[in-house]
Amino acid sequence: MRKTSVLAAMLCFSLCFSVAHAAVRFNGQDYVPIATWVRANGLHCLQLRRGDEIFATSRTTRLVFDVKSHYAEINGVQVALSFPVANQKGVALIAQFDLDTTIRPLLFPGRYITPKTLKTICLDPGHGGKDTGNRTFWHSEKTYTLALASELSDQLKKAGFNVILTRSKDTYIELPDRPALANRRGADLFVSLHFNATQIGRDQVKGPETYCITPVGASSTNARGEGSDHGSTIANRAGDESLLFAYQVQKSLVQNLNMNDRGVRHARFIVLCNSKMPAILVEGGYMTHPVESEKIYDATYRRQMAQAIVKGILAYQKLTSPPASSAVLGANKPVGHLNKASPRKGSP
Ligand SMILES: [Zn+2]
Repeated sequence: MRKTSVLAAMLCFSLCFSVAHAAVRFNGQDYVPIATWVRANGLHCLQLRRGDEIFATSRTTRLVFDVKSHYAEINGVQVALSFPVANQKGVALIAQFDLDTTIRPLLFPGRYITPKTLKTICLDPGHGGKDTGNRTFWHSEKTYTLALASELSDQLKKAGFNVILTRSKDTYIELPDRPALANRRGADLFVSLHFNATQIGRDQVKGPETYCITPVGASSTNARGEGSDHGSTIANRAGDESLLFAYQVQKSLVQNLNMNDRGVRHARFIVLCNSKMPAILVEGGYMTHPVESEKIYDATYRRQMAQAIVKGILAYQKLTSPPASSAVLGANKPVGHLNKASPRKGSP
């Protein structure tokens, strides 16, 4: 066997554009072949069969899909999908819902985002007072969310933003009162700050997670007692902006702090549901991880984390300031839907 043939056999790959093109109904959702959508949007597609991974690339964009996975890697950042990537008779499929609510708003933000100048940012240090948040040994989450918020507030003010804090002391604030303050004061962005904990895999589980509001009609990434709530909230009006905001902050945290990427995720947390402006909740790492926890308790590291969040905010600002730049994440112009999908705001 020739050397090239051996290599091809080892890699066991096939070009995606050899697969079928029709949209299908699958698990109660409209699914389309990834290859068809990718090619229609000017990307090249390669399917690696052994790992069930599908790569789609252009000069400026790299997408990675994995069959049966609820995540897509978009330019190096893990982003939760509402429905898993599927494989039907060897054809990799993605839900039209995820193309509409997640992939397209991130790849072509200029088409989906309402341009707005950012002036005021509301920071929400999680927990406080009688609500300690996660506790490990003598460390309480509420202490470090406030410390990070104070550092972030200083840095954002230096960058020229007005900053509102939902609490500046160790006080208890009801959850609905936090976004209510941001709404009342006309904040342009809302950032809730938390640190995470797990009882399973404490030595392994680490890294940030950044949450934005769950799209209408989907389940949350981690449904904590939300049951089958698929409904709409006031926050869904800024759903595309919140997704892009979460993406930019998660990307900055992962890249600038070299952290393990646990992804952009969806949730209907009260602080997200009730916010009128683009809103995210940052879980800045795990207090239960032996190494990451020591970093969280270190002021120098929290300063670096605040710098990374500021960079994420500035990257979001660059993408959303008027006049809006289009297709900044991906250089290619999007094309129409492959099948019927609800019209999106800002679509030409
Ligand atoms: Zn928390």
